[in-house]
Amino acid sequence: MEATTPTTVSKLNIEQIRRDFPLLSRDMNGKPIVFLDSAASSQKPNSVIEAISHYYRFQHANVHRGVYQLSQEATTAFEVARDKVRDFIHAPSSPEIIFVRGVTEGINLVASCFGRKFLKEGDEVLITAMEHHSNIVPWQLICEEKGAHLRVAPINEAGELILEEFEKMLSDKVRIVATTHVSNTLGTINPIREMVAMAHAKGIPVLVDGAQATPHMAIDVQALDVDFYTFSGHKVFGPTGIGVLFGKEKWLNAMPPYHGGGEMIKTVTFEKTTYAELPHKFEAGTPDIAGVIGLGAALDYIQEIGLDAITQYENTLLAYAIKRLKEVPGIRFIGAAKNKASVVSFLVDNIHPYDLGTILDKLGIAVRTGHHCTQPLMDHFCIPGTVRASFAFYNTVEDIDRLVDGVKKAVAMLG
Ligand SMILES: *Cc1c(COP(=O)(O)O)cnc(C)c1O
Repeated sequence: MEATTPTTVSKLNIEQIRRDFPLLSRDMNGKPIVFLDSAASSQKPNSVIEAISHYYRFQHANVHRGVYQLSQEATTAFEVARDKVRDFIHAPSSPEIIFVRGVTEGINLVASCFGRKFLKEGDEVLITAMEHHSNIVPWQLICEEKGAHLRVAPINEAGELILEEFEKMLSDKVRIVATTHVSNTLGTINPIREMVAMAHAKGIPVLVDGAQATPHMAIDVQALDVDFYTFSGHKVFGPTGIGVLFGKEKWLNAMPPYHGGGEMIKTVTFEKTTYAELPHKFEAGTPDIAGVIGLGAALDYIQEIGLDAITQYENTLLAYAIKRLKEVPGIRFIGAAKNKASVVSFLVDNIHPYDLGTILDKLGIAVRTGHHCTQPLMDHFCIPGTVRASFAFYNTVEDIDRLVDGVKKAVAMLG
């Protein structure tokens, strides 16, 4: 990684990109905002805001219902967005794309439906030590119901999965592996392809939480050979409340439905209901049509910039941030994986992350503080939380310079 001048080596026109995001030009506490919390939720480009507005102004009707022109237009816009998602993650087919509210719902759907069908007493579900609560709790709920056990593959001090331990834990009892692609707290990029190969060698399917991978790198679910992949719209510059679950057709067909209601049925009588084909079997009720259309616009926006250029630019930002933050005496980085996305978690001396975050906020710098929905991971490192700065392609060297100056100022005040 080159740590010198990210903006000059970048193929991206960052000034133009920043103009596409109206929020980035507002002030915060009297200073131009420095937004370094995209890992919690990213900002939205004009094209996404306009796509949603256009839909409500000119195209709104319920989908998949009406014979009339307007409903058909809405349905077409909705299904075109599904095809965009398919292309974005290189899924084999559109019916394998299920719209959900986000990663949380995607994982709950699989835990519930896969679990009801395939988990029994004494079985195991294998996750990793760096999971977000949303890839822990749904599995605990179904394991408790079924008398199954949740197992946790360990990580090393750098915050990397210990692959040999993971492989050893793939016993005959494991029915499914659920792992994050990229850790939201450490930035660690997991070796998904190797993990999937190990699990598949034992006939075990793999679910991947792609919440933190999809904003930063090109995803090919076929090359990774994952059985399930889920991501959230709001972290890929799209709207909140919409997300995606990809599942291989054979698994989605084998699982019972999640929610019952309209849209997911073929025929209903009071005695017996038959279910609709994929993807509708898992999309009961009126969906978030505007959210889906906004998500489609967000994916178009990302594709236009290009994920390879995004990854490259963010890698230079990350290297620059680490290099500059090292100037802060007493700084300690949490997560030093060799393969890392643009997330930096740190602590300074004994200063509480919350105090640091509060002073940074006064300086117009938005960072995340706390456990980042990964309490077991914080316990592993014996810390209460971290300060986390996360970067998107709209961040700049100047943002990082302001962060470093802010941290130095805060440390001088609190140290
Ligand atoms: C944000 C996040 C989630 C939860 O996503 P929601 O959009 O809140 O459902 C799950 N896993 C990881 C790694 C995340 O970063």
